[in-house]
Amino acid sequence: MKIQREENRRENVIRPGATIGLLGGGQLGRMIALAGRAMGYRFVTMDPTEDSPSGQVSDQQVVAAFDDVAGARRLAELCDVITYEFENVDADVAHTLESRSYVPQGSRLLRITQHRIREKTTIQSLGIPVAPFRAVASAAELRQAVSELGLPAVLKTATGGYDGKGQRVLRTAAECEEAFAALAGGGTELIVEAFVPFVKELSVIAARNPAGEIAVFPAAENVHVDNILHLSIVPARAAADVLRKAEQIARRIAEQLNVIGLIAVEMFLTADGELYVNELAPRPHNSGHYTIDATVCSQFEQHVRAICNLPLGSTRLLSPVVMVNILGEHLQPVLAMVDSLPPTCKLHLYGKRESKPKRKMGHLNVVADTTEQALAIIDELGIWGKVEV
Ligand code: AMP
Repeated sequence: MKIQREENRRENVIRPGATIGLLGGGQLGRMIALAGRAMGYRFVTMDPTEDSPSGQVSDQQVVAAFDDVAGARRLAELCDVITYEFENVDADVAHTLESRSYVPQGSRLLRITQHRIREKTTIQSLGIPVAPFRAVASAAELRQAVSELGLPAVLKTATGGYDGKGQRVLRTAAECEEAFAALAGGGTELIVEAFVPFVKELSVIAARNPAGEIAVFPAAENVHVDNILHLSIVPARAAADVLRKAEQIARRIAEQLNVIGLIAVEMFLTADGELYVNELAPRPHNSGHYTIDATVCSQFEQHVRAICNLPLGSTRLLSPVVMVNILGEHLQPVLAMVDSLPPTCKLHLYGKRESKPKRKMGHLNVVADTTEQALAIIDELGIWGKVEV
């Protein structure tokens, strides 16, 4: 391996000592800051809540709403480079930040991933399969779309939905009127998709830096409970050629959309080995938390490397791993066991002041010789209900 010498070093490198601004103070920002501080960067978080998860581990926090342009100006003044940890960035704030600071991720990708119709259209235009879909502006259009796509189908709001919110599964044409009225009430556009009879959900996170290097993390197999991620199992239990294909899809998306930073690609795998991309997220992703303890470089370190135009780190998997999310309802039982957790359970808590049912409070990475062993350890802890995996 060659080490880059002075004369052929890359340009526009943001070196340790510089200040990175984080728009958003949640757990993703927190884990970016923890990784970046280890590398010698300083951090300023902008978030409306004081003492936010990311604010707690930053050098400074600008307490301002996400659509507060004056707050964004202040953030821009304090930072050499700015990144965001969620995709619903206000357009005026994005403009302020881009005109006053350096936002390597840009806002083009945000425009795409903020809107399911634009997102699916873009992915399809790259020749990558997505579930057949239609944009629908009335209940009559929905009926027409459903007659073409077939049933069941999934009706979703084009913007603002997450963790299964803002969506309905349609099983009969008679449900169209009621479902349309229920979801269109929020004033957002709607999309209806054919239901993909998937056997597994996979996700792959890819990173790309301004120099154009791309690195792809191993695919995760994701298990959801009530539409919220519960487990990520790595290596994913699927055929090697399927995993290769999933990783290639993420690489192609990163390349063709000129991603800077991370892109998480969620996919459905069908019984015949076909992959359909469901969703993109231009940031670190819950299904990549396993990388903190199981790959050479974590997704958070990789994100910092990518936006600072450093060489990307190795994504090599060091051990089989299962990540399990700690939601509000799991927090007390986990805390009651901190003095007896097995040695290969790595606990990550996000410092959130208030614990509520279904709120993501932390996660546990369990490394083991096999994913079956890791799953058995999680089972034995007895904190999570029995889930068929
Ligand atoms: P989303 O908000 O698009 O990530 O969807 C949340 C969950 O709903 C997914 O993780 C799937 O389990 C399910 N889902 C969404 N879209 C479809 C689809 N077209 N076919 C089957 N299941 C879907």
